[in-house]
Amino acid sequence: MLELTYRRSLLAVANLPPVAGFVKRFGWRLGVGRFVAGEDLDSAVAVLKRLDEQGLASILDLLGEFVASPEGVSAMVQEIETALTRLASAPQRAMSVKPTQLGLGLREGAIDTALKNARRLARRAQEAGARLCFDMENHPYVDGTLTIYRTLHAEGFDNVSTVLQSYLKRSLQDLDDLLALTPKPVLRLVKGAYLEPEQIVYRDLAQVDRLLREMIYRGLEAGAHIDIATHDETLIRETEAFVRGAKIPPEQYEFQLLYGVKPKLQQALRQRGHTVRIYVPYGKDWYGYYSRRLAERPANLAFVLRGLFG
Ligand SMILES: Cc1cc2nc3c(=O)[nH]c(=O)nc-3n(C[C@H](O)[C@H](O)[C@H](O)COP(=O)(O)OP(=O)(O)OC[C@H]3O[C@@H](n4cnc5c(N)ncnc54)[C@H](O)[C@@H]3O)c2cc1C
Repeated sequence: MLELTYRRSLLAVANLPPVAGFVKRFGWRLGVGRFVAGEDLDSAVAVLKRLDEQGLASILDLLGEFVASPEGVSAMVQEIETALTRLASAPQRAMSVKPTQLGLGLREGAIDTALKNARRLARRAQEAGARLCFDMENHPYVDGTLTIYRTLHAEGFDNVSTVLQSYLKRSLQDLDDLLALTPKPVLRLVKGAYLEPEQIVYRDLAQVDRLLREMIYRGLEAGAHIDIATHDETLIRETEAFVRGAKIPPEQYEFQLLYGVKPKLQQALRQRGHTVRIYVPYGKDWYGYYSRRLAERPANLAFVLRGLFG
């Protein structure tokens, strides 16, 4: 309960304009570089190369979320296209995008714009031999994100995937709906990172963990490709045992972790023979992403405060 209170309080404080202003000003001195590959594409590609040398796969993410203006959306889509073109010659080819970067947050024509942009980027990704994942933002965008994924899946794009969050009460039903698709979907399963209204999420963190486990097992048993995106070592051990017991082939799943989080675990998983993919965010709009990382672990905030005052 204390953990949940810390998380919710930090995310609420992070939304206050003076706090945001201060952190944005001193960000790199506050340790942003631990979680963010850099502010430009070159720095991010250098990180992809380093990870590749360490035997780790990667998925690139251009930071920027809750984009609400048509100009903002056009700029984002262009930047993502540039990144996808660059990925064609990079050692690893996968990219995550936020649905509001595609236009899902626009006041008018949101879903049509987002679908058009999603299709354009999925095609560009295909040309680059890359995968494209539609990340999940907060609850107002869940239906739209699933519509984008289902539409492209129905159109035959086999290089796209999306995300479900186990903290949302609706997710088990969403999972069952997606598992009915042919061919089977590619899904990243996570606990969920946003500050959501209490009525729509599970408040008990143990329940969120149990549900994530249930969703992972259900997805694997149904034959979907599951990206197990967590740093929870108990859950990871349990999933490894499940995969062994159910004889799930290695190409049907991978572990995904965030850049800068538990690097020893990243390597240990690789050494235990699994595909491990690291989520590599870059870009100037790092504030929201960075605050969620601080909210996930009190020690991260302590680290920042020590850097400031220690
Ligand atoms: C590849 C990837 C993609 C993701 N995509 C999305 C998405 O699209 N939408 C979404 O809502 N969420 C996404 N998330 C975030 C996810 O929802 C969780 O907020 C985040 O992964 C933390 O939860 P956890 O499963 O690691 O479990 P937790 O129970 O939070 O943590 C498990 C252990 O890992 C440690 N840990 C967790 N986070 C950190 C951190 N930041 N720094 C240091 N230690 C940490 C904890 O201290 C604890 O020991 C993604 C996560 C990953 C790994």
